[in-house]
Amino acid sequence: MTDPAPTIETTLRDPLPSGLYVVATPIGNMEDLSPRAVSILSRVNLILCEDTRSWRKVSSRFNITNKFQSYHNHNEIARTEQLIEKLEEGDSMALISDAGTPAISDPGYRLIKACHESGVKVSPIPGPSAVIAALSASGLELNEFQFLGFAPVKPGKRQKLVERTLNSEMTSVFYESPHKLLKTLTLIKDLDSQREIVVAREISKKFEEITRGSALEIFEDYSKRKSIKGEFVIVVSRHDKKKTYRLDL
Ligand code: SAM
Repeated sequence: MTDPAPTIETTLRDPLPSGLYVVATPIGNMEDLSPRAVSILSRVNLILCEDTRSWRKVSSRFNITNKFQSYHNHNEIARTEQLIEKLEEGDSMALISDAGTPAISDPGYRLIKACHESGVKVSPIPGPSAVIAALSASGLELNEFQFLGFAPVKPGKRQKLVERTLNSEMTSVFYESPHKLLKTLTLIKDLDSQREIVVAREISKKFEEITRGSALEIFEDYSKRKSIKGEFVIVVSRHDKKKTYRLDL
């Protein structure tokens, strides 16, 4: 028999064990912050934020007045040692990123690794992540998938990413910027115009759009638009034939 899940009231009464809590925060809609995340963020000794401006928006919405400081790509090397010392002394800390789940194409890896190496407990507080949200609404096969992070900026590396996705026998998913979306859609449709793809835009926000179709259809749809704005995730269906896709440059 497993223990019944604790309610928010019981977790709020319990003392918070020391360690690092890796807390997922909303990727758009504030209602997606879980009650457990609010409880943890209200009770840790310190919140480590990738972006203090984003945190201020969340904290004011949920009336969280706890202590926070910045922890991002530019200070994580310098800060990690000092934070580990405090955690070893018994502090509790929450790590949050700008939006979504920390360490998924976001800072956190160094601190989380250092915690494991120093015997500091690490607990995930699960919640929103753009990659999982896009996959979940894609209607593509998800028994297996590969996540490729951000589409690279350099053209040669971007082409390699497209080849990897088109040749993969797993569904592929990656983050894309609005400025490069059409470039990537062009590469995909030039190699396999009929490949089923999904473009997830502005998930959980006012202008959310989940567009599914062949690479050619999606390319035509986006190339007709006056401007391309927002945050994007691209999901590409798996390759189930014996053909190899290669860009001859
Ligand atoms: N760690 C984050 C997560 O778990 O969602 C992802 C961080 S990554 C730095 C940010 C990228 O995620 C954006 O550039 C965009 O490609 C994607 N993204 C974030 N929020 C999104 C949203 N609401 N809709 C679509 N894509 C989003």
